[in-house]
Amino acid sequence: MDITDMIRAVQGALGIETDGRAGPQTWGAIYAALVKPTINRKPPEQALSAVDPRSETAIATLLPEARPMARALVQKAAASGIQIKVISGTRSFEEQDALFAKGRTAPGPKVTNARGGFSNHNFGIAFDIGVFSGNRYLPESPKYKAVGVLGMELGLEWGGNWTTIVDQPHFQLRPAWAQDLPEREMLASLRERLANGQPVFA
Ligand SMILES: [Zn+2]
Repeated sequence: MDITDMIRAVQGALGIETDGRAGPQTWGAIYAALVKPTINRKPPEQALSAVDPRSETAIATLLPEARPMARALVQKAAASGIQIKVISGTRSFEEQDALFAKGRTAPGPKVTNARGGFSNHNFGIAFDIGVFSGNRYLPESPKYKAVGVLGMELGLEWGGNWTTIVDQPHFQLRPAWAQDLPEREMLASLRERLANGQPVFA
C-alpha cells in the first residue's frame, strides 16, 4: 500500500471523495470525526481562518469548494516562510472578453488566449497568487515553484505543470468528474453546467 492508497482508504471511511489527496476537505472530515463536528456551525474545512484582506477579496469570488483550498495555500506558504497573496480569482465572461480584446481589438500587448467561457477563471475554480516581500509584489521568484509543490500537496492543480503555457502563479481545483478530461473538454462541460444552472462540483 502506498500513501495515496492510504489516504483513499481514510477518505472512503469518512464518506468523502476518494481522490487520494489530503486537502482541507479531508482534514476537515478528520477533524469533524475526531475533534469537533462543526465550528461555529460550519464544516471545519469551511472554518479555516481568513487570510489577508487582498486575498480575501479574490477568494470571495471563488466557489465555496475552492475557498478553503486558497486559504490553506496562503497559510501553508506562510508556514514555509513564503508570503503569498491571492491576487486574482473569478472573471465574468464579459471581463474575460475585455482581456481577450487587449492586443487584438484594444490597445496594449496580448494578455490571454482565452475568450469569455474559455478560461478556468470564468467558473470559480481557479485563482492566481503573487509572491510578496513585504508590500512588494515579486512577479518572478523561485518561490513560485515551492508554492506549486505546496498546492499540489493540497490537491490543487498547478499551472506550473502545464506544458503548452507554463503558468506558475495559477492554481485550480479540478472537479472530480473532470479528473481525466483534457482541458478543452472540461471547459466545454463547465460552460454547459453554467448555462444549465448545474453545480460545478457535483
Ligand atoms: Zn490563472
